[in-house]
Amino acid sequence: MNKKERLQIPPVDMPEQDPKQRVTNVDEVPLGYTPEMAILEAKRCVQCKRPFCVEGCPVGIDIPGFIQFIEDGDFEGAIHKIRETNLLPAICGRVCPQEEQCQLTCTIGKARKDPTEAVNIGRLERFIADYEREHGVVTMPPKPTPTGKKVAIVGAGPAGLTVAGDLVRHGHEITVYEAFHKAGGVLIYGIPEFRLPKAIVQKEVDYLEKLGVNFKYNFVVGKTAPVQSIIDDNDAVFIGTGAGLPRFMRIDGENLLGVYSANEYLTRANLMQAYSFPETDTPLISGKKVATIGGGNVAMDCARTALRMGAEKSLIIYRRAEEQMPARLEEIHHAKQEGVEFHTLRNPVRFLGDDKNWLTGVELLKMELGEPDASGRRSPVPVPDSEWVEEIDAVIVAIGNSPNPLVPKDHPELEVTRWGGIVVNEATGQTNIQGVFAGGDIVLGAATVILAMGHGRQAAKSINMYLSSGRWSDLEEALSTDRADVR
Ligand code: FAD
Ligand code: SF4
Repeated sequence: MNKKERLQIPPVDMPEQDPKQRVTNVDEVPLGYTPEMAILEAKRCVQCKRPFCVEGCPVGIDIPGFIQFIEDGDFEGAIHKIRETNLLPAICGRVCPQEEQCQLTCTIGKARKDPTEAVNIGRLERFIADYEREHGVVTMPPKPTPTGKKVAIVGAGPAGLTVAGDLVRHGHEITVYEAFHKAGGVLIYGIPEFRLPKAIVQKEVDYLEKLGVNFKYNFVVGKTAPVQSIIDDNDAVFIGTGAGLPRFMRIDGENLLGVYSANEYLTRANLMQAYSFPETDTPLISGKKVATIGGGNVAMDCARTALRMGAEKSLIIYRRAEEQMPARLEEIHHAKQEGVEFHTLRNPVRFLGDDKNWLTGVELLKMELGEPDASGRRSPVPVPDSEWVEEIDAVIVAIGNSPNPLVPKDHPELEVTRWGGIVVNEATGQTNIQGVFAGGDIVLGAATVILAMGHGRQAAKSINMYLSSGRWSDLEEALSTDRADVR
């Protein structure tokens, strides 16, 4: 097939659950490609000599390489190729913002003059990872010679899991300390089941256990044991504790019953499976009319979860216009399809309650768009004397998260920024304390799965170099001059 013929193949749609049906269950919304669909989509790739898609991928997957295997019908070859650089393909294929990364730079999207018509790299990655899981293909690396070095990883989110997977292959003894009773971080407690089935995350964790990674659950570093004892007992430590501290609006009535942070709401629904209450132990006030405050992906997850928890009306309340929403277009589209109502250019000024402290409503203020602010988006400007009250049964505040403060609080020697993120050397992930590295959302603030994994990969290289050479003050230089040592 020549390039011109490939260019003419339209993008292959992925089947989805019907919107009316899917709000009655928590099953995954997109259903995935069939092998025939995947091969057809793979034919759209022109195998660029300089593949811009790879440059757009934070972990540098050989994208044309794995797509060629799919086109040839060699699905096992494709999974081996992806796993050379990506430890969590079933997860990345589902939740990465590909339209801002690999697909944004894809030649086909540019040639068709529509970035949404790029090769569907994420869908292909998901197809291959699902094929691996469903067909029991196990890609076990050769068993390494033990080095006798011990590494502690604090936090089992995508950053910590990536470090664990990369370092265990070098023969180091890895222990992951996790505050929750399950590994996965936001993948398990935040991102809803209907976007990322938890069985998929668990399968990736099982794989790490098979590689020899030890997990210690219900272990809050800084509470269960001091940070210093973890440092003393190990040759190196990686801190990947994420950005799980919810931000609030700091307005009257925020402590009323029925007002949740997005974290609490989603943790109850996902990790604690409130959707199966009373078979499970955790209840959730479902509310007939639920308002989610915010316009990002987390807000979309909350508003869509509320529908599945039985809300008759689920509202997004956002202070700017829809064009300024930071959520992915796909998430906004899915939310609208499911019946989430978008109430833009309004902002809560206080929450109202009854004499038993239950939420009864929200006082809202109209907004209009002003000049662009520091974010580059047009700013929300209050319209004077435009307040009114809306009856609401439950509110979910989804306006962002800050770095988890527990580890720096217990270990004040650790250098942090003004907003609480751990300070690291960008090239190596080193903190100001010898032998201690950090990465993911605890450094970046709330970011993305693949950026957390990219940080994890970089820190794992540095840790391996540090453990094998003992160099610290010149680690960055050592890494750049001795790449062969750290691969
Ligand atoms: P986390 O995933 O936050 O993991 C940190 C882990 O550390 C947690 O398990 C926590 O329990 C543990 N921990 C914290 N403190 C301690 C301690 N003291 N001791 C032991 N353990 C500790 N990104 C995307 O790319 N695509 C999406 O679609 C997407 N959707 C999202 C939806 C929601 C609702 C949220 C909240 C985030 C979403 N993100 C998404 C962002 C993404 O999930 C995060 O950027 C990513 O998970 C960060 O990874 P991490 O490993 O740094 O931290
Ligand atoms: Fe294929 Fe697009 Fe990557 Fe080119 S940029 S190799 S067409 S996926």
